[in-house]
Amino acid sequence: MSRQDYDLEEEYNSKRNFSKTKEPKGKKAGKGKNDGKSKHAPIFVIQKHDASTEHYDIRLEIDGTLKSWACPKGPSTDPSVKRLCIPTEDHPMSYADFEGTIPKAEYGGGTVMIWDSGTYTNIKKNEAGVMPMGKCYKNGQIEVEFHGEKLDGGYAFVRAHMGGSDKTQWLLVKMDDGYADARRNPTSTENNSVVSGRTMNEIEQEEGDD
Ligand code: MN
Repeated sequence: MSRQDYDLEEEYNSKRNFSKTKEPKGKKAGKGKNDGKSKHAPIFVIQKHDASTEHYDIRLEIDGTLKSWACPKGPSTDPSVKRLCIPTEDHPMSYADFEGTIPKAEYGGGTVMIWDSGTYTNIKKNEAGVMPMGKCYKNGQIEVEFHGEKLDGGYAFVRAHMGGSDKTQWLLVKMDDGYADARRNPTSTENNSVVSGRTMNEIEQEEGDD
């Protein structure tokens, strides 16, 4: 069984102690799987995460799970900027609604904000038409249009094998379309949750428990 076929939400569960963290539990392998043709528009979420180092967790719904990357600097709206993304374990769909705190001593301990969320459209095509997202992920070439509160328009995720690193890395780049804006810098100027309006400090103060 290849890594792609293995249900990585097991990895998600194995990293966490659900008696300590308020994060949702992942489903068991094989449960809740669909054929990738869900009726609703697929969702994305970007969670700002103030863990040992601050980063943005970018998650795309693909085949019934949230494929995930940790992006240290977060997305840019400038097409000339490439942002590094490190793939992380699949997260359960219910994680898209998680905003709060993870106890400091636990895996990923720190504050989590829903920085952006919405739906996306798969725009990656070959001669036969739009390619299934699962295949795009496997191929390391994803092209989507975000329909979020902060982010709109095309973004490309491209897997890159950097010399000297044993970790797979991806690059995220804004596609050059009507939503590209080299002067806008949403990760520094748009700092509130799209679901609660709160800042990181407000989330920490209201939901912190240690
Ligand atoms: Mn994280």
